[in-house]
Amino acid sequence: MACRRLREVAPGVLMATSRRYATTSTVLVDGSGGAVVIDPNWDPDELAAIPADLADLNLRCVAGVATHEHYDHVLWHPGLGDATRWASERTVRDLDDHRDRLLAPLVEYLTPDLIDLAGRLRPLPDETLPWAGPRTRLVQHDAHAPGHLALLVEEAGVLVAGDMLSDVEIPMPDPADETLDTYLSGIERLRPTVAASRLVIPGHGTAGERPMDRWDADMRYLDDLLAGRVSDDPRIGDPENADLHAANLVRADRSRNG
Ligand SMILES: [Zn+2]
Repeated sequence: MACRRLREVAPGVLMATSRRYATTSTVLVDGSGGAVVIDPNWDPDELAAIPADLADLNLRCVAGVATHEHYDHVLWHPGLGDATRWASERTVRDLDDHRDRLLAPLVEYLTPDLIDLAGRLRPLPDETLPWAGPRTRLVQHDAHAPGHLALLVEEAGVLVAGDMLSDVEIPMPDPADETLDTYLSGIERLRPTVAASRLVIPGHGTAGERPMDRWDADMRYLDDLLAGRVSDDPRIGDPENADLHAANLVRADRSRNG
């Protein structure tokens, strides 16, 4: 059977896009039949298609990764098996401490068995992905969510960015970030990793072959807001971004007047 959802976007890197908010699931292939599944999502049929696609490709899931603690990034499917699912220590702790609150939105989308399976994570041992594939560096930052991870497959230059560097979503700071300061620190921390990459896969949107353009666009948007200028970022025109943009304007206002 042909591959149904996952498509190869770089050697050894597959991605699928959900019907909901263009959310991406990413698969890294280790070269010996193993696959690491990052942020699988979203609807039950889409989740079920991931292990089916892996089987079609003669791959078996050897591990999972959740880039951050948000409910749409910590999903899983029984067909993927009981491989270890990794996340940052902070992500694991937040899900341990606030599981019900963090996963509450899932009742709208998933069956109780899939909700029960969500967010069962273990902390990564260090700053590289523990797998048999090419060296993959983990970069932790706090912009969009505390303990958010980006993964850089170094040789291929593929950056799995989680909910950063999207072509459809403007920067979405963590709710605790009242002045954009935390977001700015996080995106700055990410800069050298973005500069070292040749393909970016965002958590929502499409893969992009000019990762620094995405970084520049986000920085320009933030700079404009913080300087009190009107941003001409085309993403603002999407009604899905209206509330977020309004909240970011308030944050920028606080930063200027605080
Ligand atoms: Zn998120």
